[in-house]
Amino acid sequence: MIKINESYLKLQASYLFSDIAKRVAAFQEANPEMEVIKLGIGDVTRALPKACTEAFHAAVDEMATDASFRGYGPEQGYDFLREAIAENDFKARGADVAADEIFVSDGAKCDTGNFQELFGTDIKVAIPDPVYPVYLDTNVMAGRSGDFTDGRYENIVYLDSTKENGFIPDLPKEPVDLIYLCFPNNPTGTTASKELLKKWVDYAKANKALILFDAAYESFITDDSLPRSIYEVEGAREVAVEFRSFSKTAGFTGTRCAFTVVPKECMAYDEAGNAHSLHSLWNRRHCTKFNGVSYPVQKAAAAVYSEAGKAEVKELVEYYLNNAALIRKEIAALGYDFVGGDNSPYIWIDGKTDSWEFFDMLLNKAGVVCTPGAGFGGCGQGYIRISAFNSYENVEKAMGRIKEALGK
Ligand code: PLP
Repeated sequence: MIKINESYLKLQASYLFSDIAKRVAAFQEANPEMEVIKLGIGDVTRALPKACTEAFHAAVDEMATDASFRGYGPEQGYDFLREAIAENDFKARGADVAADEIFVSDGAKCDTGNFQELFGTDIKVAIPDPVYPVYLDTNVMAGRSGDFTDGRYENIVYLDSTKENGFIPDLPKEPVDLIYLCFPNNPTGTTASKELLKKWVDYAKANKALILFDAAYESFITDDSLPRSIYEVEGAREVAVEFRSFSKTAGFTGTRCAFTVVPKECMAYDEAGNAHSLHSLWNRRHCTKFNGVSYPVQKAAAAVYSEAGKAEVKELVEYYLNNAALIRKEIAALGYDFVGGDNSPYIWIDGKTDSWEFFDMLLNKAGVVCTPGAGFGGCGQGYIRISAFNSYENVEKAMGRIKEALGK
């Protein structure tokens, strides 16, 4: 008899965005004339930079002749991309990362979801609340949680991000082995200073723990005092793996390219306490289960680091940050408390009522889609997330409609 992995039965039935999609579809069916404005799911709306599409086209043409055609590439990514990443994203900011510590992939979602495979099922995992749901669900699938009771999985250490701690989780009170951090944060839009990350790095060192640092939104950091990489913090190479993505940086959500940095000093331990290189383990896992990102996509990603690419990416990010600034201004004028939106595309708003109720009110009265904070965890209850990924015109229209709906 074929048996299932029963951990899957512990997963909560509905994925946040499919719930939202259902409600939006029902609203649209009942109001076919209403143009719904989506400021919910964090998908970009603007075209790829021209530098990227030109490189993409040229690479496709290379595939069209036998002389320049390429078949399987290196699983870890082509050197031209890994070297450009190491130079521009890390060395230029004083972070010591070598090209061969970079593993190119088709998404930070898969990488943040898959990395936990390297670890025992009996480790203690600390996960922020609210959180990008992938970290939690993949640990549940792997069997690291108990049952879901009273809104939380047993056996998971939740790191609460609340108004009281400025939506930045405190160090866990009990020892943990694996810690997920994400800055700029999805969903709260908060950022972390070097001093804050140093506290986590020191904790990880003292506890032989590992930090999985998701920096998918680093390109939105405009405040130069904030670190863009955890490797800007001393000691992080020993205890942190970093995930990056071209999705939000350069509009690659549909094109798919990302990378994971695994420093050679990073270790995990066997039962006897012997250290094992995570770089070797991830290399083994990556080469066994993944066959590389397509050559044209890697060429398009490498173009992000050309002079033209850098200028276009800067313009893209500034465009979305300008939307975020408008959302912040209007939400503040409406008298709501919020965080985020200044070094991040997300604004986290205290809706002063149940998250789904606020979501339904914005949808039904304003035709605007946000994301209910409760979908990101218990600490998100009462909050909504508004995303800056849309056209400026749509954001303006949405904020006007929200103002009207709230009777202001
Ligand atoms: N990490 C975070 C925190 C995200 O919010 C997202 C996407 O929304 C991802 C990772 C996924 O990135 P990718 O498109 O590279 O899979």
